Amino acid sequence: MQIGIIGAGIAGLTCAYELCKKGHTVDIYETAPFIGGQASTFSVRGSLLERGYHHLFLSDTYIADLIEELGLSNQLKWFESSVGLYYGGHIWKFSTPIDLLKFKPLPFLDRIRLGVWTLILQRTKTWNKFEEITAQDWIIRHMGIRSYRVIWEPLLRGKFGDYFNKISMTWVWGKIYLRVASRKKNGQKELLGYPMGSFEEIISTLSDRITSSGGNIHTNTTVEKIISQDNSLTGLQIRYRTGESYTRKYDKVVSTTPSYVLPFLAEELPQKYINILNTTSYLSAVLLILVLEKPLSDIYWLNIADRTIPFVGIIEHTNMIDNSLYGNKHIVYITNYVTKDSDIYLSGGSELLKTFIPHLKTINPDFEESWIVEYYHHKIDAAQPIVETNYSSQIPDHKTPIKGLYLGNTSQIYPEDRGTNYSVRLGKHLSDIINE
Ligand SMILES: Cc1cc2nc3c(=O)[nH]c(=O)nc-3n(C[C@H](O)[C@H](O)[C@H](O)COP(=O)(O)OP(=O)(O)OC[C@H]3O[C@@H](n4cnc5c(N)ncnc54)[C@H](O)[C@@H]3O)c2cc1C
Repeated sequence: MQIGIIGAGIAGLTCAYELCKKGHTVDIYETAPFIGGQASTFSVRGSLLERGYHHLFLSDTYIADLIEELGLSNQLKWFESSVGLYYGGHIWKFSTPIDLLKFKPLPFLDRIRLGVWTLILQRTKTWNKFEEITAQDWIIRHMGIRSYRVIWEPLLRGKFGDYFNKISMTWVWGKIYLRVASRKKNGQKELLGYPMGSFEEIISTLSDRITSSGGNIHTNTTVEKIISQDNSLTGLQIRYRTGESYTRKYDKVVSTTPSYVLPFLAEELPQKYINILNTTSYLSAVLLILVLEKPLSDIYWLNIADRTIPFVGIIEHTNMIDNSLYGNKHIVYITNYVTKDSDIYLSGGSELLKTFIPHLKTINPDFEESWIVEYYHHKIDAAQPIVETNYSSQIPDHKTPIKGLYLGNTSQIYPEDRGTNYSVRLGKHLSDIINE
């Protein structure tokens, strides 16, 4: 079959790779000048680095299997993670159960209650009972209002902004249940994985395998229209960045675009399916990446539970990966998840930097602006689907009502949270159902 794929992110590339293995002819169209989508990289100080921080968990078995199949296993290294919470003017370590016991902002009994319920969630295998209740209600009821206010509300706001009180408990369950699988057998430290050479190793190897099997990957090329007749797919209308446009016939098409994009491309989609597509809202990720002379902290992942600070997380990449890869500089991501009309989304990089600097000084009083060697500013749209209660009922089918047109994107990953591991699973699944 001749198959067109819209999007060269991890889902599109994996799907194409699998389809090539099955003997199909595949063309991938990617609107960006680069491949890899949300996991794409850029060059910093002679090494490649993800536009948005990336790591893997031990539970990420789909991508681990792919890495092995691609012959990249010895590049995947595992590191002990260090997690912290900035609260009340202090960085609290939060990597082990002992750290929780030492977390003084919560009364001792609350710490025990929080620990016991976290343990229960880690051992709860089914998620359906969490579907109907918001994380806010469940956590307040079980872990208590103080744990919610001090720890959970800031974390939920960090990931979902103003939607924090609408998020389903299933999402929190997924995070806790799956994270436990990333701990060493002794149940203490969490391990995080990173392909040395960056996620580009996986992306470029997939790309090589696709092209060497006769597939084509067109960057700077936007799919403008999915052409169909009488609800059967016939082809794609494509436009190069240079302005030229042409149409191409396909037997099947897979769209890995965010759900809200599809109705603009496929005019024949019925209103009922469009309504389902439009139920899911997404947040954009805004990242300011600082290249520093000195480390900001000794923590890899620092959640900011202080609402006077205008960012929700600091991920210090070089507290996971040795900084000799980046000319001995220190790489720090400052992150926010926001709507497209928010001030943070609309601000330029230099404006954000100016706003953030005094807060970095609050977190680390030794920090000085002169430590900043350079900075980068990235915005990634449709970075996080908003997982509200009863989310399973709003997930669109992979097989769209247009015969031969398939949809595979992060909004369909559930009950797990989106991630490269699940985009690999999705890409494989799509290649199977297309082949049916
Ligand atoms: C800040 C951030 C941090 C993350 N951290 C991690 C992490 O630590 N670990 C992890 O595993 N995952 C992480 N993720 C998630 C992971 O990157 C994504 O879940 C995954 O890469 C999504 O892949 P995808 O192929 O489904 O979608 P995408 O990567 O979004 O790919 C879709 C592609 O379609 C293209 N496209 C859209 N419309 C068109 C069109 N009309 N024509 C042509 N092309 C089009 C887009 O340009 C895009 O490249 C993170 C994501 C972000 C944003």
